[in-house]
Amino acid sequence: LREQNEMNRSTDNLRSPVICVMGHVDTGKTKILDKIRHSHVQDGEAGGITQQIGATNIPVTAIQEQTKMVDDFKKILIPGLLVIDTPGHESFSNLRSRGSSNCDMAILVVDIMHGLEPQTVESINMLRKRKTPFIVALNKIDRLYEWKASPDRDVVATIKQQKKFTKDEFQEKVNHVIVQFAEQGLNAKLHYENDDLDTWISMVPTSAHSGDGMGNLIALVVQSCQTRLAKRLSYSENLQCTVLEVKAIQGLGTTVDVILTNGRLKYGNTIVLAGVEGPIVTHVKGLLMPQPLKELRVKNPYDKFNEIKAAQGVKILAKDLDKALAGTSLLVAKRDDEIEILKDDVQAEVAQALKSIKLQERGVYVQASTLGSLEALLEFLKQSKIPYSGISIGPVHKRDVMKASVMLEHDDQWAVILAFDVKVEREAQEIAENLGVRIFTADIIYHLFDAFMQHREDLKKRKQDEFRHLAVFPCKFRIVPNCVFKSRDPIVVGVNVEAGQLRIGTPICVPSKDFLNVGIVGSMEFNHKSVEVARKSQEVCIKIENAPGEAPKMVGRHFDETDLLTSKISRDSINLLKDWFREEMQKSDWQVIIELKKLFDII
Ligand code: GDP
Repeated sequence: LREQNEMNRSTDNLRSPVICVMGHVDTGKTKILDKIRHSHVQDGEAGGITQQIGATNIPVTAIQEQTKMVDDFKKILIPGLLVIDTPGHESFSNLRSRGSSNCDMAILVVDIMHGLEPQTVESINMLRKRKTPFIVALNKIDRLYEWKASPDRDVVATIKQQKKFTKDEFQEKVNHVIVQFAEQGLNAKLHYENDDLDTWISMVPTSAHSGDGMGNLIALVVQSCQTRLAKRLSYSENLQCTVLEVKAIQGLGTTVDVILTNGRLKYGNTIVLAGVEGPIVTHVKGLLMPQPLKELRVKNPYDKFNEIKAAQGVKILAKDLDKALAGTSLLVAKRDDEIEILKDDVQAEVAQALKSIKLQERGVYVQASTLGSLEALLEFLKQSKIPYSGISIGPVHKRDVMKASVMLEHDDQWAVILAFDVKVEREAQEIAENLGVRIFTADIIYHLFDAFMQHREDLKKRKQDEFRHLAVFPCKFRIVPNCVFKSRDPIVVGVNVEAGQLRIGTPICVPSKDFLNVGIVGSMEFNHKSVEVARKSQEVCIKIENAPGEAPKMVGRHFDETDLLTSKISRDSINLLKDWFREEMQKSDWQVIIELKKLFDII
């Protein structure tokens, strides 16, 4: 009955706003959602990072219950809140329906003890790009020194009743966060000091642990939505519906979870949605919603509906959903002759999203289960400065391996498929093994990243071992006057390094004597102790051995202490340094490379 009431309420002009929670890992996003939902999703999450998207409908009755301690909060005009459970990176705000964000308002969670962190800034940038308004939950206030919790009171009163040093610490942390927001070009204030919501971003002190401030947070979300977003939230019959997840459910077959932001879905509707292998046209065989205050993905009995009106999270039953693509729009065809046009529309949306992704000439091949997770993974790779040369959605097929294998011709480190939350076809796996393409699979972005980084590190070590004897570090040096200890076979001399780095194994030449090959540095000593490397201004004693196949050279006859000696570099040796030994090169060393390149006339 209560649900029926909720359904009736939404016949008011306003729909429920769609809310998403964002922020750095471990700030308490899941815990805040838990508090709002009274459920315990956090304990079951893979690796503690929420990777999938779910939605919870918070009806007015629940809002009233949770905000009853808040002073000055009376009227609720919206029919409820639709809260999206935000995964680590793949945020709902990143899913777009025809270009605009589907998230009406965001809660940006900041750990008061840590302030702004890298992903906080990422979230801010994403929210700005999508023009999504947000408020800040300044979470974990219970960790302030000797904090006394009082979750049944307004948090403003609770702060007032703290001891002086607790209040001082609170104010100090708040000031710090305000400065950090200012550095991002944002004006932030504590919510109870903010009387201009259009200019200032409100920060609500919360503890998802003790419950302090949670009522204030919900109240402010409701209030901000009602006052600032009323226009956007006026209900429209124009369908706006996004596929969040495609899931196989035992007994139900493959279903899609959608967020219905505007309009309505009905039993029997002809729906059109994007698929991995082209558009899908099918009929709604069931519209399911969980009990209020439960999340779509938690196992619980669903209620069936004949019609559902926005905004709601809905599970749709229909045939042929196996290849549906999450992160795209779901459309309803009112007449049969619309179907072809709508098919073009949904596929164009996917094509456009994929087209807007810039690929590099060299880089890994990236594959994911949904458009949203693909975008999230690519964003992550971009931040981590890992280039990508190919993308695909859906299971890894033979053709994906073939595409990735092209990199073997250029650079093996990129002959890699990063497969996020997708299956690998057996045939694809076999071909990959034969060709030498590595496939990494994971359903947590970080795990995929870590596995790839480890692979790169191993590959680099192998290559360094393989090429070390061919790498030539750049060096300029001269014989120190009166320090010729042995003039030939082998030459033993004291030298002064003028630039770059001199290493054992470096081939030496005399550029002014027509690049005369002197030999190879066999050993090096400083203060009678053997050393591997000598740098600028260091004086070391070196032994120069004959290069194989070269006639022995003699100091005093072929060259002398007035001549500049250099390492003998080549195009190939420079490439080796660039590819595998960057960490062992300093800026000044690259400068020497530039000089020697000119001298040696290397292009
Ligand atoms: P998420 O990664 O942002 O989703 O963060 P979680 O909700 O998983 O929380 C990370 C850790 O911080 C968990 O151990 C939580 O129990 C803890 N935590 C979350 N909120 C609070 C809070 O308000 N106070 C305290 N003391 N711990 C919290």
